[in-house]
Amino acid sequence: MASNQAVVVGGGICGMVAAVLLKQRFDQVVLIEQADTVGGLFCSVKDSSGAAYDMGSHIPNATGVAELDDILFADANTDSWHKIARLCSGNYFAGSWDLNSPFPDASKLPQDIYQKGCGELINHTDLPESGLIYEYCANSLGIVFTESIVVPILRKLYGQDAPLKSLTMAAGLFGFTRILALPADVAATLKQLPAFDAKLGYQRESDFQQRKEQDNLSEVTYYYPTTGEGIGYWVTQLQKRVEQAGVEIITSERVAKIVHQSNKVTSLTLANSERTLACDFLFWSAPPFIALGAMGLTPARGQVTLRTALIFHLNFDLPLLDNKSHYLWVWDANSAIFRLTLYPNLTGRNQHHHLSAEILCSPDEVESFSESEIIEQLKSMGIVDPQAQCVSGQTQVINNTFPVPTTEFQAVNQQNYETLTGCVDNVVVSGRFSGKCWRQAEVLVEAYESIIRATDAN
Ligand SMILES: Cc1cc2nc3c(=O)[nH]c(=O)nc-3n(C[C@H](O)[C@H](O)[C@H](O)COP(=O)(O)OP(=O)(O)OC[C@H]3O[C@@H](n4cnc5c(N)ncnc54)[C@H](O)[C@@H]3O)c2cc1C
Repeated sequence: MASNQAVVVGGGICGMVAAVLLKQRFDQVVLIEQADTVGGLFCSVKDSSGAAYDMGSHIPNATGVAELDDILFADANTDSWHKIARLCSGNYFAGSWDLNSPFPDASKLPQDIYQKGCGELINHTDLPESGLIYEYCANSLGIVFTESIVVPILRKLYGQDAPLKSLTMAAGLFGFTRILALPADVAATLKQLPAFDAKLGYQRESDFQQRKEQDNLSEVTYYYPTTGEGIGYWVTQLQKRVEQAGVEIITSERVAKIVHQSNKVTSLTLANSERTLACDFLFWSAPPFIALGAMGLTPARGQVTLRTALIFHLNFDLPLLDNKSHYLWVWDANSAIFRLTLYPNLTGRNQHHHLSAEILCSPDEVESFSESEIIEQLKSMGIVDPQAQCVSGQTQVINNTFPVPTTEFQAVNQQNYETLTGCVDNVVVSGRFSGKCWRQAEVLVEAYESIIRATDAN
């Protein structure tokens, strides 16, 4: 019988895991990655002191799908991993920290605004159906809280000139549409109604725990390497698993041409080596418009703005002042930082006193932020000791990370996705670029289910 071959394009975590799963179903699997290393957005860098930092907060968790978790965390029971039963997160809003909740506390707003906002919030008793962030929040939280809390966060993430009213919910606010408001017992009672559950956070740990028991929510385990290599250790382990499975990995390469006939992709030609690969099944985790171009089809195009991630990785000579939180949100409009990652709390070790402060900006804004200004902010926020000196660090500028999720972006993406999946039926389009999902665990579960569906059908 002739052997069959699957090709995976895109070597992020989605492509890597897909390659292992496909090797159980195909004789040969080839993984093509355009960068010189695999891992995609999951990657770590080290500074001159040997402190490791990640490209933003990426704390993997088990998916609950045994076949997947066996691939993802095969060595989970070794001391190479710090297992985290509950991620600790807090937020900085209106000039102070709340280390018990990721949601901004509306009661920190001026009292007249807070009271007006609560009146509006109470009156919105239906769960909004809108897929637009502004409209959804206006019909859920009310205009006052939308304008005073949500809009400044949207501007921080997507830019001062972001088209606020056409931003979609897809990964729009990192999934957050909740705030803290009203007295704690009132909020806890109202949360029994779906419309209020969707917009309010619990203010008391006991209420949160009670809800988890009531909903019978299973605990999710998060993992972070203790090896001093950051999340890059996970990628190295995954890469080994891909190689052990017998997958051929080709880096620094792109697909130049995709040949298809009778609704099936039959072969691909690579751009640099000009090598042609037979292809019985294509798993595509790169942007869909690239596949359409390689197939000789015209992709839909539109105004798509991708944000630049500017990450200040900093290591201090004194311990960080928060020794509990794993990562923190900075919702305060006066700081450009939107998220902090506190590595000593993630690794469970205190070898270095290091953190990453993430900013999303446009490429031409990068120069306007300085390391010394960020350090001063961290000191005034009480995260870094005022006496601490920064002993090492690194500044990373990563262009084209996070799309501004406009309706136009979503429509173009959706159209390219549909054109691609509509014209060939031995292709799965998956990963964050598919537009179907975005968070790591959701991306992996979606990829797993797509592979099962597609290969069972063939
Ligand atoms: C700023 C930011 C913060 C995030 N924070 C979180 C978080 O806190 N929690 C969470 O769960 N998720 C988070 N995510 C999402 C998470 O990063 C993704 O779920 C995950 O990385 C998706 O993996 P992927 O393989 O689909 O995509 P990627 O990691 O982007 O991998 C895609 C790969 O395809 C390659 N590629 C692209 N084009 C081509 C081509 N033409 N040919 C070959 N290869 C190509 C790229 O080089 C890349 O290696 C965040 C994402 C961003 C952008």
